[in-house]
Amino acid sequence: MFDLVTRDIKYLSGVGPQRAAVLNKELEIYSLHDLLYYFPYKYIDRSRVYLIREIDGNMPYIQLKGHILSFETFGEGRQRRLVAHFSDGTGVMDLVWFQGIKFVVGKYKQQQEYIVFGKPTVFNGRINIAHPDIDNASELTLSSMGLQPYYNTTEKMKRSFLNSHAIEKMMTTVLLQVQEPLPETLSPKILAEHHLMSLTDALRNIHFPTHPELLRKAEYRLKFEELFYVQLNILKYSKDRQLKYRGYVFENVGEIFNTFYTRNLPFELTGAQKRVLKEIRQDVGCGKQMNRLLQGDVGSGKTLVALMSILLALDNGYQACMMAPTEILANQHYDTIKELLYGMNLRVELLTGRIKGKKREAILSALLAGDVHILIGTHAVIEDTVRFSSLGLVVIDEQHRFGVAQRARLWSKNAQPPHMLVMTATPIPRTLAMTLYGDLDVSIIDELPPGRKPVVTIHQFDNRRESLYKSMHQQIAEGRQIYIVYPLIEESEKIDLKNLEEGYWHICEEFPECKVCKVHGKMKSAEKDVQMQLFVSGEAQIMVATTVIEVGVNVPNASVMIIENAERFGLSQLHQLRGRVGRGADQSYCILVTTYKLAEETKKRLEIMVRTNDGFEIAEADLKLRGPGDLEGTQQSGIAFDLKIANIVRDGQLLQHVRSVAERLIDEDPTGIHPENELLWRQLKSLRKSNVNWAAIS
Ligand code: ADP
Ligand code: MG
Repeated sequence: MFDLVTRDIKYLSGVGPQRAAVLNKELEIYSLHDLLYYFPYKYIDRSRVYLIREIDGNMPYIQLKGHILSFETFGEGRQRRLVAHFSDGTGVMDLVWFQGIKFVVGKYKQQQEYIVFGKPTVFNGRINIAHPDIDNASELTLSSMGLQPYYNTTEKMKRSFLNSHAIEKMMTTVLLQVQEPLPETLSPKILAEHHLMSLTDALRNIHFPTHPELLRKAEYRLKFEELFYVQLNILKYSKDRQLKYRGYVFENVGEIFNTFYTRNLPFELTGAQKRVLKEIRQDVGCGKQMNRLLQGDVGSGKTLVALMSILLALDNGYQACMMAPTEILANQHYDTIKELLYGMNLRVELLTGRIKGKKREAILSALLAGDVHILIGTHAVIEDTVRFSSLGLVVIDEQHRFGVAQRARLWSKNAQPPHMLVMTATPIPRTLAMTLYGDLDVSIIDELPPGRKPVVTIHQFDNRRESLYKSMHQQIAEGRQIYIVYPLIEESEKIDLKNLEEGYWHICEEFPECKVCKVHGKMKSAEKDVQMQLFVSGEAQIMVATTVIEVGVNVPNASVMIIENAERFGLSQLHQLRGRVGRGADQSYCILVTTYKLAEETKKRLEIMVRTNDGFEIAEADLKLRGPGDLEGTQQSGIAFDLKIANIVRDGQLLQHVRSVAERLIDEDPTGIHPENELLWRQLKSLRKSNVNWAAIS
């Protein structure tokens, strides 16, 4: 059979070693297979030729057929431009070039009939097309094909004359060589059940669709396949793990849990907290290894759920470990948990990068001896030197800062992996969660503790500072505390941003009655802690900070969050920052301060923030506005965003559909032995081998 994978791109006619090197480097195209899987980003309907007298400056891309009457150049140096007067008998218009003038004059002849393609605009009352695509009318058979593919190219490619047109020609050549059908990558059963086009037809039609309906079908087939294997990979991987490892069984709810519940628990659990705890108990009691994602908006009380899960582990003779993304957070968890466990005779230790020498040695040996019950820390806890006597449960807080690979390192600490509870305060849209955390079961805390008043969010332009300061004075007089967040630490020359240092002095001046503290990421940890402590203890009324306070900091008396240059922040960041207030019983406020001139998208972001406090709604909106590539947490994952044709936002429905197809397959054939699925398992295996990002999670 014709194997595209083993055919080097450099042997394709018209390519050669030099252009092949460019294709290798710029697009990672090495073989004919790689080339065929480089899909167009758009198509242009070239089935119609317009007349010059029909066109105006408001039309999209169009094509015309006619002759160049004459060339003329205008201007000097950088201003120089070349104009070709072009006519088709119904009128005359201008073709304009600002670059490559010599090349153009040399290439195009006056008697020749051309097809000219581009977007018409009006300049000085005349219609023109700048830098048009030009083909010999006699050579151009493309117009008979209807939709012409357009391929993304880079500057380096263009310098080697590898523009979209050139790629298109290469595709034509390859597809001409493909006489027999290519090896199918989906099983006949799946093709038939889901009415999918064959691979060969799909690849032909994705590049050269003869009809929009065929293009749609080709796209559907290729997206289906792409998402299907992503899901199959995740699900197979988690199934294999399930089959390979047993989980520790926490069958007892014992003395520790009960003592805490009856004696120490300072409040009634919310319904959502109870429900989630039940889900967790079921997981850890049934003999499988738990891998659960706990989602809950900021302030929904995840820490308590985590702690009570930890107590279950302790009741059954295991140790537990909790990992936070920052030093500040780890410290805070340590303090909170120590306080909650007061009088219970449990040993809780803190391990961060700052704990060194004898103290560290002592913790490590107590840990190995089984004398430490709960270890709380930062990344430091996943170092190889950290060994447990019997680690039963790992809690990871604020997952979006940890990569999948780091999670995997924790599993390997024992012969039998501990239960994993992953907590995130950045709610993740469903479709994204399926791909990012597709191997995890999901629990959701969708209820805030009682008595909380939703934070009131206000958008204010920065020329109304006086009234803002007045309200701040008022809040402080009532005993509240205030955060002010700036996007930058130092002044940036390019963008005139209110910067932290300047803001700090300004605030000190405006609020002489207050103590103002300051925290930013470039401070030494010890110094940061001192400043933090000033605010936590209530000694300082105002904290001026950068986004280092974004995650997890808990000061219930703080009731105002002011975000300067709010236009510079993303939605999820704004939501996280807002979550720092509204933690006590008082009415809280979040003030988004911006300049007057705002981009449309920024206005939308601010409107969403003002309208809703619902983290899930905000996450969905964020995904729609920004696309998956920019969302927090996606960088480490890679996997979801290496998609060649599918798009997690636009193809959310298809994603859910293929996930259920993959789920059914795994249920029916968990160990991969049914002959009718052989093709699928083989294909998955070869994809795992060739896809770097997939390897990270499998
Ligand atoms: P997050 O989900 O953002 O991590 P936390 O666990 O920090 O939230 O909880 C936020 C605050 O709510 C804490 O001060 C915590 O003590 C409090 N809290 C948690 N659960 C309850 C509850 N059931 N009733 C009242 N307050 C609660
Ligand atoms: Mg938290």
